[in-house]
Amino acid sequence: MKSDIEIAQQADVWPIDQIAARAGLEAREIEPYGYDKAKIRLDPKIKRDTKGKLILVTSINPTPAGEGKSTVTVGLADALQLEGKKAMIALREPSLGPVMGLKGGATGGGYSQVIPMADINLHFTGDFHALTAAHNMLSAALDNSLYQGNPLHIDQRRVIWKRVLDINDRALRHTTIGLGGPTSGVPREDGFDITVASEMMAILTLSTDLMDLKARIEKIVVAYNTDKEPVTTKDLGVAGSLTVLLKDSIKPNLVQTLAHTPAIVHGGPFANIAQGTNSIQATRAALTLADYAVTEAGFGADLGGEKFMDIKVPKLGKEPDTVVVVATVRALKHHGGQSLAELDQEDLGALESGLDNLKQNIRAMKRYGIPVVVAVNRFTADTAAELAMVEKAAESIGATAVTADVWAKGGEGARELAKMVMEKAALKHEFLPLYQPEDSAIEKMTKIVQEIYGGAAIELSEKAKKQLAIFSKNGWDKLPIVMAKTQYSLSDDAKKLGAPKNFTVHVRELVPKLGAGFLVALTGNVLTMPGLPKHPAAMDIDIDEKGRIKGLF
Ligand code: ADP
Repeated sequence: MKSDIEIAQQADVWPIDQIAARAGLEAREIEPYGYDKAKIRLDPKIKRDTKGKLILVTSINPTPAGEGKSTVTVGLADALQLEGKKAMIALREPSLGPVMGLKGGATGGGYSQVIPMADINLHFTGDFHALTAAHNMLSAALDNSLYQGNPLHIDQRRVIWKRVLDINDRALRHTTIGLGGPTSGVPREDGFDITVASEMMAILTLSTDLMDLKARIEKIVVAYNTDKEPVTTKDLGVAGSLTVLLKDSIKPNLVQTLAHTPAIVHGGPFANIAQGTNSIQATRAALTLADYAVTEAGFGADLGGEKFMDIKVPKLGKEPDTVVVVATVRALKHHGGQSLAELDQEDLGALESGLDNLKQNIRAMKRYGIPVVVAVNRFTADTAAELAMVEKAAESIGATAVTADVWAKGGEGARELAKMVMEKAALKHEFLPLYQPEDSAIEKMTKIVQEIYGGAAIELSEKAKKQLAIFSKNGWDKLPIVMAKTQYSLSDDAKKLGAPKNFTVHVRELVPKLGAGFLVALTGNVLTMPGLPKHPAAMDIDIDEKGRIKGLF
């Protein structure tokens, strides 16, 4: 079997205007970036009245390698295209953190990929760089205000806006800045998050248009003043210039799959510390242009799936018509106690106990009143007995499971899955939101823990309780909640695999994200700046004299 990048390098790539035409876009509606990439102009096609069916792809709690959500998303859209439907994909842009770190690229795999694979995984159309610049410009404006006599009376011990970089660099988590004497600024503690954890990323992907983007940027709380009142981007007077820096980044990027299905790849907020799904603009464009818009939400249904339903759906104004929960026999066996090194061996006992994780993630999605289809992403070592066991388990709780072989066969490997998705998406459903806007923060978090994670309760640290009291004073306590939790477990303890019961989720800190319009509840030890592993992917990536890249998976 060829590597992902070898397959991508040998692909027959169509010029982007041909893909645009296939998507129903006219030449004046795109801005080409070279031969095979383009930005889609925000007007006139991306309207609010979207006609397509929305298919959300999410998964069980993953293993570190990922369970193939992007791969299944691409394969499913290609299969819908083979079924004679107009399908489009809306995926997130990869972050260089995972690309150079542990996980490798995020453009799908095998014969279900979006291309140009290397470009998309590296700098693409520059969105993340623009975002990093806009984010750090805000930091510079804040430090300049401190330096220029501090007219806003910013309490430099209460600055909550850190800097960002789209690289895994643990050494930057805690820094001291402004050293070097009076002409080099005001010394204070600072730190870096990864770009995809920036509130600016959450804002860019939730914005409905350029003016909404600006209004959201204005509201970002960057610090508190000496009277403990919030200081915002608007107070610093830079919301306009930051919006200018993002004027192109807000436009969705158009590319193609190996089978020339139009794909929109745009935005990339993490699914643990932000809403974890591509932009409103991207999903809306796909829904407007296609019969089926296939989109994804990061990590498992407990993280990305929940956030899609509770954060994105209200802004998008449309809920999914079907949810696809991706599962792998390998990960389920791992949830049932099999070690990562032995996943290639059949183990029906481990699989049986691991299936509880699948069942809880199915329950979590069915809770919203939407039909659920389980896509079993087939790996070569999976046995017929194992696959049959997963299908039976899904059926036992009212979901249908279909095995898909998209990695080895592309869209052909998902024809059955596509048929099932079309059947379910045609059913009438009633969307049942998890919580109401007026529910308190505690009520919202408790509902997430009980109804989505299958746990018992939420517990706030003393610090978090004090923060909630301040938020309540500022009128922020009714905002939606983004739970920042480990992706590996339904609980806040990464080691509790399967479907733990009776657990309490501990919130150590709450962070207001006024521009994005949510509160982040930090649980366990979720990091906003990951580190590199002992042997990072960056040690295996290389380029030859012809410019051919290898090692990008
Ligand atoms: P996720 O979106 O869940 O994080 P990806 O779709 O990015 O996962 O896949 C992660 C990696 O696993 C990719 O390198 C991909 O090539 C590989 N992969 C996915 N599905 C399969 C499969 N069925 N067999 C072998 N490798 C696979």
